[in-house]
Amino acid sequence: MKPELRRPLVVGNWKLYKTLAEARSLATALRASLAPLAGRVDMAVAPVFTALGTVRDALQGTPIGLSAQDAYWEPQGAFTGEVSAALLADAGCGYVIVGHSERRQFFGEEDDHVRRKSAAVLAAGMVPIVCVGESLQQREAGETEAHVLRQTERALQGLSPELAARVVIAYEPIWAIGTGRTAQPEDAEQVHRWIRQLVERGFGGRLAESMRILYGGSVKPDNARVLMAQPDIDGALVGGASLDAGSFAAIAAAASS
Ligand code: PEP
Repeated sequence: MKPELRRPLVVGNWKLYKTLAEARSLATALRASLAPLAGRVDMAVAPVFTALGTVRDALQGTPIGLSAQDAYWEPQGAFTGEVSAALLADAGCGYVIVGHSERRQFFGEEDDHVRRKSAAVLAAGMVPIVCVGESLQQREAGETEAHVLRQTERALQGLSPELAARVVIAYEPIWAIGTGRTAQPEDAEQVHRWIRQLVERGFGGRLAESMRILYGGSVKPDNARVLMAQPDIDGALVGGASLDAGSFAAIAAAASS
């Protein structure tokens, strides 16, 4: 049984998809399909930067939150091409995905960047959704626990308990992202438990019990229920299936029950 204080959270990562018109249309469809779930599950969507304003307006008055997919740590300055956490808060975001494996893999993001970004997102009053996860090679070499815990520890390093309490961790095994392969529910649960135990060692049992740890990696309507039923899985970070309102709503419904 999950403690009451961990209300499930389901976040749709739209990645580099959707024009403005498509983003508006998807957000409008989500308004209707997610309405019955309000109060039972927290929900958010993460469109590309250029669509944040459009999606924010389309979701106005709904409980569906707005997330960015990345943020830079400096609030402003000569950093061409970057978007700061402070500006994302100003644009209406409540969440920011930090350290997604695609950013680590294709854009050279390292643990220290993830730590600085998470701290900036918290300082701007938003919730960082910190992604951690092992490669297939690391899993096969038996390095999953050490790798995921190292990533988590570095992301939380230096945070006060008050700030750490607002962080959401997303465990996303890299080999499961966008591949159609999902972790076995018991294997995912095991990693979530390791993460929670690490948080307990660093910040105490109360904080660990209240921290939300999401699973991500090819979550679909047909596998969501069994994953979300695991005691330490508190919701999902959803990529591909979040691009369809019906699929995302079915996953959010599975997380809410
Ligand atoms: C993701 O982008 O974080 C993700 C989990 O993608 P998918 O659901 O497509 O595997």
